[in-house]
Amino acid sequence: MKAETGDRTIHILDPATVNKIAAGEVIERPASVVKELVENAIDAGARTIRIDLSSSKEAITAIRVTDNGKGMSPDDAVLAFTPHATSKITGIEDLDAIRTLGFRGEALASIAAVSRVTLLTKPHGTGAVSGTRVVLEAGEVKEQGETGTPEGTNILVQDLFFNTPARKKFQKTIGTELAHITNTIEGLALAHPEISVSLNHNGRAVITTEQSSRLLDTIARLFGSTIARDLVPVEFSGPLVSVTGYISRPAVFRKNQSRILISINGRYVASPPVNNAIIEGYGTLLSKERFPVVFLFLTIDPALVDIHVHK
Ligand code: ADP
Ligand code: MG
Repeated sequence: MKAETGDRTIHILDPATVNKIAAGEVIERPASVVKELVENAIDAGARTIRIDLSSSKEAITAIRVTDNGKGMSPDDAVLAFTPHATSKITGIEDLDAIRTLGFRGEALASIAAVSRVTLLTKPHGTGAVSGTRVVLEAGEVKEQGETGTPEGTNILVQDLFFNTPARKKFQKTIGTELAHITNTIEGLALAHPEISVSLNHNGRAVITTEQSSRLLDTIARLFGSTIARDLVPVEFSGPLVSVTGYISRPAVFRKNQSRILISINGRYVASPPVNNAIIEGYGTLLSKERFPVVFLFLTIDPALVDIHVHK
């Protein structure tokens, strides 16, 4: 809407433009798509999550996330792609008790606005015979109907940023994008040892974790049993916060902070003050330029955490 009427220079943006701008904030790169889809699968109670990536020489061409979570009804399958559509909160007061990773209802709408999406889903345990297939392009529903599909949800995202060329150009090499995706999956898998997570790239397995109640098993799967052997368990429970996880003995270290992973209520936080506090905790046991391996999971009353901050 470029028209200027009378003395007005201000105009209201059309919904398609609004959606594209909003999408730009939520979906920066392929790893953002992976993060949002895997978080949705976790929120849906999945016990198995599989991520399949396809790439050409230049770019990641397809991202598929398959879960065995609760699935969606035919109506929800379409509604899920509308901006601000969520099943996780109904009002602002619910934010103080939020236990899910998502709640804004903008991820699927944002992904769909800048790609081609095919959703297959069937609700769990309702005895539904067939599932639902929805195809969207640039946020518009192109096809919808019944389909045979297992219980759970399967979302395929293709041609990411096909309609936002500036964002497409900004994408880094496949190697960089894959590294971002791998980090994202590692973080989510560590926060959820009870879920089996696999990441495959062009048919080759990159990450596989088995369902286990033990975080140490997941750490060993992801980073090797040598690291896992040298970790010391941390267990603390106070009135405001409880902490579980593992930290390395001073003899085990890294040259950077990439293996300091902290989550609060299942959400990864990149917080320099928290990292610094941990590093300072080692005092003179670790010399300069040496960093510990840390996996710490904090549980805090949701009312004390500000989750309004993006990411
Ligand atoms: P949010 O996660 O913030 O609610 P999303 O846009 O990510 O918003 O998802 C919208 C809604 O679609 C969710 O609230 C949920 O009800 C449904 N949904 C999305 N992904 C899945 C999934 N993998 N399994 C079941 N339901 C899903
Ligand atoms: Mg979500």
